[in-house]
Amino acid sequence: MIEQKRILNTAIPGPKSQALQQRKLQAVSTGVSTGLPAYIEAGQGGILRDADGNQLIDFGSGIAVTSVGNGNRRIIEAVSEQIRKFTHTCFMVNPYEPYVEVCERLNELTPGDGPKRSALFNSGAEAVENAVKVARHFTGKDGIVAFDHAYHGRTNLTLAMTAKNMPYKHKFGPFASELYRVPMAYPYRWPGGPEHCATEAFGYITDQIHAQIGEENCAAVIIEPIQGEGGFIVPPSGFLRQLADWCHEHDILFIADEVQSGFCRSGDWFACDYEGVVPDLMTTAKGIAGGMPLAAVTGRADIMDTIHPGGLGGTYGGNPVTCAAALASIETMEEENLAARAKEIEAILTGRLEQLAAKYEVVGEIRGRGAMIAMELVEDRDTKEPAAALTAAINKACHERGLVTLTCGTLGNVFRFLPPLVIGDDLLHEGLDILEEAFAVSLEG
Ligand SMILES: *Cc1c(COP(=O)(O)O)cnc(C)c1O
Repeated sequence: MIEQKRILNTAIPGPKSQALQQRKLQAVSTGVSTGLPAYIEAGQGGILRDADGNQLIDFGSGIAVTSVGNGNRRIIEAVSEQIRKFTHTCFMVNPYEPYVEVCERLNELTPGDGPKRSALFNSGAEAVENAVKVARHFTGKDGIVAFDHAYHGRTNLTLAMTAKNMPYKHKFGPFASELYRVPMAYPYRWPGGPEHCATEAFGYITDQIHAQIGEENCAAVIIEPIQGEGGFIVPPSGFLRQLADWCHEHDILFIADEVQSGFCRSGDWFACDYEGVVPDLMTTAKGIAGGMPLAAVTGRADIMDTIHPGGLGGTYGGNPVTCAAALASIETMEEENLAARAKEIEAILTGRLEQLAAKYEVVGEIRGRGAMIAMELVEDRDTKEPAAALTAAINKACHERGLVTLTCGTLGNVFRFLPPLVIGDDLLHEGLDILEEAFAVSLEG
């Protein structure tokens, strides 16, 4: 057991981590960067312990993955037991029950009461690619619509859907075709003002699809119900519903990419639940299996079952160890009511961040739901000029003090908070104290 306590033994990163970072530079491609190069040796709950014995408070969950916490008893037991039984057969060769059970659970938990089917993959990007395959196959159409600030992964097809050039797309093209981009309903930066965002964005987007692609050529619209890497952008209330309804009227599939927002992160099982939106297809990954690499596409049975046998799959997709972890993770979320816990975390985070906003003009907006909260920093509240350098400086000050924070946003000026849902209130408050201190040193010197 690791005590749920921050400990600073050395500077961060300490000498052992620095030596490891030197080795990293000699062994690992520069393309794979490290946000906070304190090398982790152990983790539990809300704490990560590094090679120098420092204990860091985790406000990132490895990008919304370890929602049930590292060192989770149910995950350890389920994974160990499965490893002892067998580690791999390939479901497409010799199937096994845990794969079927994960699909059953996904079909139950995702929005919509109708019959559903799922298929399992290894990563969020792979799930998104497969959702696109399924949508094109089912509709017989090619066009896929994605949004400004979208992030759907780093494979070639998903890079075509991801919005941000640096670092994701830069010089990695050419990208897959028949991918179209429309503006995101981003209330804080909507030109006509937040109160007009839902209606104007909906009108503009559907006009663009009509004029530039044609509904009859459009297979699917894919959206993150709360955008992740793009800046935790929450579309205005009613927007997703209106868009999903419009898609249905035009035989266009509505795909929700819940890879980051899913599995209790937003305070519901899925971020779509809050808006009462039932997507035709949903992609999940990240929080699904306590850190084991698993992803899924879940959707209407009539859509998912149009695919010919052998049309979907992969060697590792739905590996039995990852499935055991997913079942243990879902059980933890149910038993410990982690969706409700996410809402408690929201109350603590937003309460404390509002205090920062009252003190510092640089806080432009606080947004998000559940344990998926962000703070956008600006040079000036009127011009809303993004404060990217300041965001980076505050982030660094947090890291030096033993708080693992993440930034995001197309403009690099958004702090995002994604603590494990099992983190204690005391660690949350201590992390927020550190954030306050980081603001003070970065802004007041
Ligand atoms: C992280 C992410 C992906 C890509 O997932 P990987 O497992 O990194 O391939 C796709 N969509 C969203 C919304 C994500 O946050």
